[in-house]
Amino acid sequence: MSGRIDWNSIESKWIERWEKQRIFESDPDSSREKYFVTVAYPYPNSPQHIGHGRTYTLADVHARYMRMKGYNVLFPMGFHYTGTPILGMSRRVAANDAELIETFHRIYKLSDDVIATFVEPVKIASYFHHEIKRGMKEMGYSIDWRREFTTIDRVYSKFISWQFRTLRKKGLIVQGSHPVGWCPRDQNPVSQHDTIGDVEPDFNEYTIIKFKSGGGGDDDLIILPVATLRPETLFGVTNLWVNPQLDYVQAQVDGQTWIISKEAARKLEFLNHKVEIIKTLKGSEMIGWKATNPLNKASVPVYPASFVEADSGTGIVMSVPAHAPYDYHALEALKSDKKLQQMFHISFDDDKVSPIKIIESEAYSSGIPAAEEIEQVGALAQSNNNNNNNNNDGKRLEKATSNLYSHEFYKGRMMQNTGRFAGLAVAVAKNEIKQDLLKSGSAETMYELVNKPVKCRCGAECVVKLLSDQWFLNYGDREWKQRAHECLSNMDILPQDIRQEFDYVIDWLRERACARKSGLGTKLPWDKEWIVESLSDSVIYMAYYVIAKYVNSKAISDDNDNISDAFFDYVLLGSGSADQVAKECKLATYAVEQIRNEFSYFYPVDSRHSGRDLVPNHLTFFIFNHVAIFDKKNWPRQIVVNGSVLMEGKKMSKSLGNIIPLRAAIREYGADTIRLAILVSAEILQDADFSFDTVRGIRLKLLGIFEMAEKWRNMSQQATEEEEHLHHHQQQRLLMLEDRWLVSRLQRTIAETTASLDRLRIREAIYHTLYSLDRDLQWYLKRATARKHQNITGMLAEFLNIQIRMLAPFAPFTAEEVWELMNNRQSITKAGWPVVEEEKIDIVAEESEFLISGLLADIQNIVKVTKITPTKVVIYTTAAWKTQVYKAILANILEGRVNFGQIMKLLIANPETAKVKSDPKMVQKMIEDILSTPLEARNRRLSLTEFNEIITIQDAQSLLSDEINKTQIAVYSEEDPAKYDPKMRAHAARPFKPAIYIQ
Ligand SMILES: [Zn+2]
Repeated sequence: MSGRIDWNSIESKWIERWEKQRIFESDPDSSREKYFVTVAYPYPNSPQHIGHGRTYTLADVHARYMRMKGYNVLFPMGFHYTGTPILGMSRRVAANDAELIETFHRIYKLSDDVIATFVEPVKIASYFHHEIKRGMKEMGYSIDWRREFTTIDRVYSKFISWQFRTLRKKGLIVQGSHPVGWCPRDQNPVSQHDTIGDVEPDFNEYTIIKFKSGGGGDDDLIILPVATLRPETLFGVTNLWVNPQLDYVQAQVDGQTWIISKEAARKLEFLNHKVEIIKTLKGSEMIGWKATNPLNKASVPVYPASFVEADSGTGIVMSVPAHAPYDYHALEALKSDKKLQQMFHISFDDDKVSPIKIIESEAYSSGIPAAEEIEQVGALAQSNNNNNNNNNDGKRLEKATSNLYSHEFYKGRMMQNTGRFAGLAVAVAKNEIKQDLLKSGSAETMYELVNKPVKCRCGAECVVKLLSDQWFLNYGDREWKQRAHECLSNMDILPQDIRQEFDYVIDWLRERACARKSGLGTKLPWDKEWIVESLSDSVIYMAYYVIAKYVNSKAISDDNDNISDAFFDYVLLGSGSADQVAKECKLATYAVEQIRNEFSYFYPVDSRHSGRDLVPNHLTFFIFNHVAIFDKKNWPRQIVVNGSVLMEGKKMSKSLGNIIPLRAAIREYGADTIRLAILVSAEILQDADFSFDTVRGIRLKLLGIFEMAEKWRNMSQQATEEEEHLHHHQQQRLLMLEDRWLVSRLQRTIAETTASLDRLRIREAIYHTLYSLDRDLQWYLKRATARKHQNITGMLAEFLNIQIRMLAPFAPFTAEEVWELMNNRQSITKAGWPVVEEEKIDIVAEESEFLISGLLADIQNIVKVTKITPTKVVIYTTAAWKTQVYKAILANILEGRVNFGQIMKLLIANPETAKVKSDPKMVQKMIEDILSTPLEARNRRLSLTEFNEIITIQDAQSLLSDEINKTQIAVYSEEDPAKYDPKMRAHAARPFKPAIYIQ
């Protein structure tokens, strides 16, 4: 049967049975401790692929594990319809976007009829909603589907309105002008969910400094603005840079005459500047102009530089060669380029432009900091043997720039040539100079995307817009940040490495636009022109899973317009009275109380799962909003963050064509195989690599488990009733060494797997249950076969019983099927997680098998190296006195003494071990033996009181013979006067290291 296992029919059988038996439906149960696991709900604008599978599978493994440990686990799921992505997609369908339609055809296999309906955004959402839901069921996710909802459901909208009114009452929603990422086509703010490739638009605040110029003439009527992150270096400006090849415009900006790149003019408009373009000019026309530094009134020339980009800043750059590696590099290049100098009539004899150092710091004490840093980074790069020069120049300068910037920012002081700023720390001077310039009108603030280009899903390139009269969640509020930090510090963050990132994001977040003019979602309750955006209506919805159950069961009617804030205040915050709320909302008091009790039972969230890309937004907002709205006792307890999935080592992308829809993969390989293949390749924060080699390997492992279960079943069925009796009787017999060993190994593996799963070290846990246990079983079977120990039914049952239960969270379908095959009537979910039985840990058995497998490997090794075809193998076990010596050495080593002389002295001092005086080499070898033994085995050996090597080896004689070509095996004690020892090998025997003679 195994080769012909029909995975898909096994899957449908169990999906149906779980549903019928309501295995995953959880209600409050005061007799059991609850565990509430949630995972970021999906956006239904595409089917799920293997990459999505990771986050959900991890959460499911977690839920299943906790359920087997006896918790009353709630694992619900909803669908996030809100926002602009779905709207953008429907517009692209309406516009017949060829790329999108091709994706629908080729990857998602959608028919034209279905695609045609997608001009209506809700149709897209509902189509993929059901597609994703089917996929989740097929993957075996243990979800309580009674709590399903979408974010455009009416009661959900009421919940979001309540959330927003509550935040506003607390003063956490403000109206004002703030910069946001913006799509010029949609006229809407954009965040991660709205962009192609899911990138969060990230922007920086620059200072625009206005250099005045007479152009070709004498009157300083034209402003040449430069954008900088380092206004404090203004004292060191030697010249300005423009790119002679670029198109610039002369424009009226807020009534002043500016020259800037075309791109800069456009950006300034989005930042609410009034921009009117007068004429265009080439960069080359400005070369040779003079401009006045607004800080020290120095007159500096305009020089050409090709590194200046049109869409970076204003398109004009101030040159600070002493402190900016790019400027230093460009100035040196210009000085040595006579042709360029001639072309633009530049003479360095007159100008005498040389770097002006204005900041001092310990790292760059003597020379020009930019020059020193370039040299240092350059030397590093050269020692790394790179050969792509051009590219490396850019990288080197970039690296030098960031090194210099951060060093001077933290350690630098302004020098004597900076007037009243002399002696100030750079961090302080930076701000003072900026404020001075802003006050005198010589500077402006400008925001610029640092991770551009960022593309909106509609295809347009995003910009930064200064948005006026917009509603913002004030994540910049200091007290709010403090509470978020407090919550975080009490939370468990898995893996731990990511905690710092959360602290960083909490500090770094500022006002965030929380409403949009278009898209699906809930209207802002006090300003109906606005719709709450998708990363703001998805932060406390875990609480709504409690309510959704009652909406779905019609205890709360979907069109009950009487549901008011009082309802949510009572149910979620416990304020008010059930009677009052029931009356106001036209609900039964009993129902209101029941909902409140259910919320109190399941909240807080015990574990929140999500991908790493949601750390800078969703996961941190989740913390912020919980601490703003809920009592401390309902703050979340754990966040689990996972990395992404690569496909055969490559990033998944439409262009590579390596996106595999999850449902297609399940049909082809089976859900359990996919689950394991996604999880086994990496611990949670690392990128997992999905590969078809792994898929095949896992499939074989799962088949092996089926086969073992069938083997057991055949064996137990063959037994007649009489034999059955005998079988029971035989189970009472003294267990064989290998039986005791396997039972002991099972206990160890339970302990290891449990410890791994408690920290969600998934890869490790799979390794223990699937690979390590399998190796143990293979060894056991070898041993049993060699001794013709046929009645292993009981042992196999015990083994499978434990292995299958530990496999159940990872491979639920296989586990259920095998569990049933083994005559269990109940779902394995109810079988409980195996518990270590300490009394079954058997160190003598463990040591025996360790000794035998080591001995077998040694013999095989000798046979291989000497190329003898053995006719007889003689094994000599150690003399008793050596064992005492060994134990004395072992005790010393475990206490940290490994020095040979010291150990020797101690041994000789003790009459019981003094005999070693004549054989120091033996002591040396024992020390080496011990040092090459795993720590676990060292400890075990120290506590072994009665271990008889000769009996152990004799017990395994049949196995050794089988494994070495059926060769005759003889075992003697070194001390046996009648031993067969033609080559005098016996004396070399050491404890746990028998001597071997092969003939
Ligand atoms: Zn757009």
